[in-house]
Amino acid sequence: MTRITLSKANFFHNLDIIKEKTKSIQKIALVLKDNAYGHGLIEMAALAKEYGISRAVVRSHSEAQKIEEFFEYILVLADTPKVPSKKIRYTINDMQKIKEFPKGTLVELKVDTGMSRNGISPKELKEALSSIKEQGLVVESIFTHHACADELDGKYELQKEQFYKLKERVSQTLKLSFHSSNSAALFRDDTCDEEMVRVGIAAYGCLELPFASSAEELKPVLSLYADKNSSRVLEEGESVGYGAVFSTREKTVVSNYDFGYADGFLRACSQNYTTPEGIEIAGRISMDNSSFVSDKDTLLIFTDARDVAKFADTISYEVLTALKPHLKREVV
Ligand SMILES: *Cc1c(COP(=O)(O)O)cnc(C)c1O
Repeated sequence: MTRITLSKANFFHNLDIIKEKTKSIQKIALVLKDNAYGHGLIEMAALAKEYGISRAVVRSHSEAQKIEEFFEYILVLADTPKVPSKKIRYTINDMQKIKEFPKGTLVELKVDTGMSRNGISPKELKEALSSIKEQGLVVESIFTHHACADELDGKYELQKEQFYKLKERVSQTLKLSFHSSNSAALFRDDTCDEEMVRVGIAAYGCLELPFASSAEELKPVLSLYADKNSSRVLEEGESVGYGAVFSTREKTVVSNYDFGYADGFLRACSQNYTTPEGIEIAGRISMDNSSFVSDKDTLLIFTDARDVAKFADTISYEVLTALKPHLKREVV
């Protein structure tokens, strides 16, 4: 069986570090979208509640409904409800969509400060606010998202300045709250002057931010294990698996483990992956069978998604969110 373990100690350790930065637990909105970055929505929601987190951010209405009992505040990033909720807020991502929200819906207005992905333009702000009012929606917050918070020479400062100006402008006439930080923004700045931060990857312990030393203290929460299906002793020069792309260099034991790309382990790791214990992959990742040069009964596949990401030439976010919901998840 392929299974995931979730380290409660590491998760709480990461939340401690995040809380030190925000200075208040109330400001932390844990991003639980996409099955909590593959960790398991319900498992992580329950742990977050246990820690004392009261805010969550998800992608869809159905995700929000599943975790309603755990939080006081839930922000949905991209969905439109059929009926308003007292707890769930919905994001307005563009002008036209305002008309689709039912009267009385709690909404947050997303403003595009330079990422050019979602949100209204700062120029449309006045029009958006009056359209929201006309539609009978209840707007609580204005927020934006950073394109380059994890890069030193990107447009982070520029977006921040744009958002700050907008905040100044709006605050002259309206009392709304504002938020913009993701994990990288929270960790790159020395002080947090935000009313709320939307943290995902830092809480899961896989933030990569070489220029922020506090990010190094974060610890990965998720580990992946697989059990052995079978073992065999192979002579030198025998090949293993589809395409016969791996051949033994000496007489050796090769075992097959019951995991593969159907579980969400990236096939791009074929032929070049080595586990944290230094165990070499033998050939390709197949659908639900992958072979390693090992005779262990249980194999630790990874404890840090950032390592896997390097082998697959991608980012930890993709490694984690690829993990399928059917995998057994256990809090340890
Ligand atoms: C995913 C997401 C976040 C969290 O980003 P991390 O880099 O994981 O902290 C925050 N805000 C928005 C709008 C997002 O889509």
